[in-house]
Amino acid sequence: MGEFELIERYFAAVGASRRDTLLGVGDDAAVLAVPPGHDLVACTDTLVAGRHFPAGFDAADIGWRALAVNLSDLAAMGATPAWATLALTLPELDEDWLEGFVTGFAALANPQQVALVGGDTTKGPLTLTVQALGTVPHGTALRRHGAKPGDLVYVTGWPGDAAAGLELIAGRLAGSGANRGALELKFRRPEPRVAFGARLRGIASACIDVSDGLAADLGRLAAASGVAAIVRATELPLSRALYALAGETRAREFALGGGDDYELLFTVPKAARAALAQLTGSPGAPACHCIGDIAAGRGVRVVGEQGDLRVPRGWDHFAT
Ligand code: ADP
Ligand code: MG
Repeated sequence: MGEFELIERYFAAVGASRRDTLLGVGDDAAVLAVPPGHDLVACTDTLVAGRHFPAGFDAADIGWRALAVNLSDLAAMGATPAWATLALTLPELDEDWLEGFVTGFAALANPQQVALVGGDTTKGPLTLTVQALGTVPHGTALRRHGAKPGDLVYVTGWPGDAAAGLELIAGRLAGSGANRGALELKFRRPEPRVAFGARLRGIASACIDVSDGLAADLGRLAAASGVAAIVRATELPLSRALYALAGETRAREFALGGGDDYELLFTVPKAARAALAQLTGSPGAPACHCIGDIAAGRGVRVVGEQGDLRVPRGWDHFAT
């Protein structure tokens, strides 16, 4: 099978078919119709085998993750996803692997109404770059800046679960049964908070998705906003599975320092609390917890029962 047959067979019709895809896979570039009165929101993220996921990681999980990490960035902007492109570098032509990869990618693309509209296919060490494109009504995208002293800090879901899941997969954390399964699933199939992110427009004063660790990403939000963030360690939501496998102290370390959560971390002015309560109480909304406040100053503090906790630094590929 040659490159063109491969593209035709596996990538010609992946994900949702959308009327605003004027031209998808097959020409030199895709042609996409942005709805009038909207802004186009674009992001890209690369997954490298052995770095972002362990070697031998299931192909369908790789397909899901490659799209999920990008949809999470769109969610953090309050954007509604529409299209994706995929640059795929493969060590060899393995049809079972490609079949699995496309199945996992489509399992997320279809319900999120994302169409795969183009890409590139090359040979080399396994690397996946997805670009996701979405839209927001003009001028309404959520930003990292905008948090003000007095705002409240919230996080969706159960931070730390995915990092613990990776430790389990890598054999660095022991555990078995349903708890192990639940945590591993959070790493293998993160659920980007797309619908929730879009509904935070007009409510959140600032927003970021948690990819490098809650404390580190909160630090970025605080820096962009020119404020300090104070987290109360006792308010950190810890899933039952994480608590059971890791114990409270380690579970909190995972929640603060672990990456790969793809949850939304955002601030809300006190005046918008009722609007947020209505949103989090609506069907299908993810769990959402207030974990702290914004104050004047800079940096992130984590306040525990016995004084401040060490604030973990996030993942940094080029840290020295
Ligand atoms: P060109 O050489 O003009 O860049 P390619 O041969 O790379 O064209 O791609 C042909 C068509 O197939 C293009 O529409 C491109 O977007 C699409 N394509 C290539 N690889 C992928 C892929 N992995 N996923 C989706 N579309 C792809
Ligand atoms: Mg071309």
